[in-house]
Amino acid sequence: MADRDHPAPITPATKLCAVLGAPVAHSGSPAMHNAAFAAEGIDARYFAFHVEPEAFETAVRGLQALGAIGVNVTVPHKAAALAVADVAGKRAQEAGAANVLTFAADGRILADNTDGIGFIRSLDEAGIALRGRRVLMVGAGGAARAVALACLEEDAAALWVANRTPGKAEALIAQLTAVLGDAAAGRLRALSLDPGEMTEALPQADVLINATSLGLKPGDPSPLSVEQCRLAQDAVAIDLIYAREPTVFLKAAAAAGLTTIDGSGMLVWQAALSWQNWFNRTGPVAVMRAALRNWLEREPS
Ligand code: NAP
Repeated sequence: MADRDHPAPITPATKLCAVLGAPVAHSGSPAMHNAAFAAEGIDARYFAFHVEPEAFETAVRGLQALGAIGVNVTVPHKAAALAVADVAGKRAQEAGAANVLTFAADGRILADNTDGIGFIRSLDEAGIALRGRRVLMVGAGGAARAVALACLEEDAAALWVANRTPGKAEALIAQLTAVLGDAAAGRLRALSLDPGEMTEALPQADVLINATSLGLKPGDPSPLSVEQCRLAQDAVAIDLIYAREPTVFLKAAAAAGLTTIDGSGMLVWQAALSWQNWFNRTGPVAVMRAALRNWLEREPS
């Protein structure tokens, strides 16, 4: 049977890829990868599977037994994905998490992390270099760690992490210091979201990143207000969230006159770079981007 996203029929030779998460109902990954498989003539289909944490390893081993090529992994499974792998690449080891697993022919499960490099590629595409720039990131979860490492590896002059739970920002700074050693010295600082601390920090920032999940749900407040964004004059505001409409953070940043970038470029690039693990080449970025755009337009918000 052929389907809307792929003109070739499914046969016994058709291979399987998937994203595993909880939730995954709103994932744009199947649209991107299936359009890319069709465009590149790859006989495979990509599914989204909702998997609860207690079933994650069983699901991974089941997909391996079915001969799947590999999987992407999203919240809350990225640390578990690293743990289930037999071999982890440097990016996954440093991030302490994997968003790509590959089922190798010799039976091993290989882990990679393309979130951080996907973030950097999306900035390259937008003509933004982080070298020498001061980054203020709000959020200290899994995505924040991969993005923070990428910012430091791109020679950002400073990386300040502000989080609702300040202890998690401090823990992230400690992890980054453990991974990067002297290369991180003097560049890192943990903050809370306390208005006084933010008023001092924001005027020093060249780049603002929202790495919280604020903006995913309707009615979420912005992690930074318009007035706070105004303190970071001339900064670039980046949200890791991708959505049809600008997020509440990007609306606040735009109202303050800042340049804005959403998370769709990062999503497209982490997907395209997943293909390096599965097919030894980067996926077709333009096809994936167009498919994501179409999917976001179709998806009920
Ligand atoms: P996570 O590990 O669950 O971390 C969530 C972060 O959001 C934590 O720092 C948390 O602070 C903060 N947060 C949650 N609710 C908050 C609230 N009401 N007020 C203030 N802070 C709040 O999630 P993640 O995996 O890092 O993902 C973070 C975001 O990145 C998500 O929106 C996800 O969609 C996006 N993302 C995008 C891509 C992409 O390719 N574009 C890839 C990965 C992730 P506490 O520590 O205080 O709880």
